[in-house]
Amino acid sequence: MPSRKLLEEIRAERTRCGPSCGVAKVLGALKPADRADLESAIADRVITGSQIARALSKRGQRLAAQTIAKHRRGDCNCAQAH
Ligand SMILES: [Zn+2]
Repeated sequence: MPSRKLLEEIRAERTRCGPSCGVAKVLGALKPADRADLESAIADRVITGSQIARALSKRGQRLAAQTIAKHRRGDCNCAQAH
């Protein structure tokens, strides 16, 4: 049944996302000073997700611009968890 297959796909999507999004994971891995900077950068709409992603990759943190965009929209598990 096609509709059931979609439901399974949606459930699989949720499972794959896990309890926290990529942004939350990186925030948890950073030093407090860096964490504050990243939070400021995410809140600053002038800074693009790509800029943040590139700067983080230089520090060995992998975070996709797409993940940052999702987090900014509140379309991630951070918004749903609280
Ligand atoms: Zn998030």
